[in-house]
Amino acid sequence: MGEHGTHTDEQIEGAIGLLEALAAESFAPELVGSESADGAASPASLTGVHLLERFPRIERLGRLADALRVRYAAEAGTRADSPVDTLGAAGYASAKDAVAQLAGVSDPEAGRRIRVGEGTAPGVALSGAPTSPRYPAVATALAEGALGIEAADVIIRELGAVASRVDPVVLHEAESGLVDLAAGHDGQAPLRVDLVRIQVKAFLLAIDPDGARPRKQRARYQRRLSFGAETLDGLIPVSGLLVAEVGATFKRLVEAHVPRVAFIDDEDRVPASADDRTRAQRRHDVLADILGAASRVKDAPELAGAAPAVIVTVAERALTLGRGVGYLDGHDMPLSLDSVERLIDSRGLQAVTMNDAGRVLSLGSTQRCFTASQRRAIIARDGGCVIPGCTTPAGWCEVHHVTPWRAGGDTHVDNGVLLCWGHHQRIDSGPWRLSMPNGVPHVRGPGHHEWTPITKSRARPSSPRTG
Ligand SMILES: [Zn+2]
Repeated sequence: MGEHGTHTDEQIEGAIGLLEALAAESFAPELVGSESADGAASPASLTGVHLLERFPRIERLGRLADALRVRYAAEAGTRADSPVDTLGAAGYASAKDAVAQLAGVSDPEAGRRIRVGEGTAPGVALSGAPTSPRYPAVATALAEGALGIEAADVIIRELGAVASRVDPVVLHEAESGLVDLAAGHDGQAPLRVDLVRIQVKAFLLAIDPDGARPRKQRARYQRRLSFGAETLDGLIPVSGLLVAEVGATFKRLVEAHVPRVAFIDDEDRVPASADDRTRAQRRHDVLADILGAASRVKDAPELAGAAPAVIVTVAERALTLGRGVGYLDGHDMPLSLDSVERLIDSRGLQAVTMNDAGRVLSLGSTQRCFTASQRRAIIARDGGCVIPGCTTPAGWCEVHHVTPWRAGGDTHVDNGVLLCWGHHQRIDSGPWRLSMPNGVPHVRGPGHHEWTPITKSRARPSSPRTG
């Protein structure tokens, strides 16, 4: 350790000694036995005016210590990058690792100290002479204890992001202006960091007005939606990147219907419980509702006023017996007969009879499919998914045959109710039961013995109980 180092070490020890004494007096003046000149060592003994006057000076003390901290953190960064990595030799994985461990702080905090330190430390020219720091105004304010690390980091990071596109002179003017605002000048109080952030954005708009555009163009270029190969479990992986407005709309639509548990005050009504789906599963089910609605819109190719045809190949024998599997067009994985029947339930069925050689022998007419006008009548009556607590709107719902079509149930408004995709999937196995006495939908919830008439329609008052 050289002569200079020794002197600085002594200064550091002296400063620590002074601060230790101040801290001891502030926390327990009676233990220290100190009597400061104004008799006000403890903050508790200060008048309000004196407290407000001392507060910024104590802050400045802290900021001066912070300035040293970031300067030393930057030095750790320089050492880690140099050919002779002394930190690596001491067993640290990186500069950030060294700062985090030596200072006992988190990785993000260590990163921030290094970032601010590197932006404000003097550089070294090839000749060995010191050059001015990248952010000289921030460096000066830090060294004077006028600017905190948090505000310094906001300024350095935001300006750094546009530095490659903006004239250095303009950038430096912006830096000076922001430092003045953040540290307070001409009798102005310093700005809170959240306000500094807002000010920086305003400066950026002025000095880099086109900045946002290339980013948006890049985002548009990167947008994608991909379908992966079907998994062995019969699931289709979906991944993608949505541009902000599409993603936000998607998220809002889905999330609005995910917390599907509503509270029903009337104790006679069925409780909206018994939904054990996870949030992720519910999101999936809401997407199914949305896709169902999209495939029912007027301009979509229609099959007797219903959804576009999805071709499922299934042996007639399997349908008659209620055993076997079907195959979805274009997919190798078998579809359970349950799923086939649900598709027929909501989308209808058109029989195509083929001989063994594959020649079409006959084309049946569409059956078991609610027409558009039947659907409109059911929507007017039910107003949405009939399961209590479910908020899925009518337009997103499928029409369910209460008495299954295979059990001879009619395709008639008196036998059809609105169910969202998720509840339609589980209606045969789940806790809810449906019945249609006199053509009025009734539900029976878990643990209930009575049938309760239900509607979500505002146009129709709840029917009297039919028991
Ligand atoms: Zn529902």
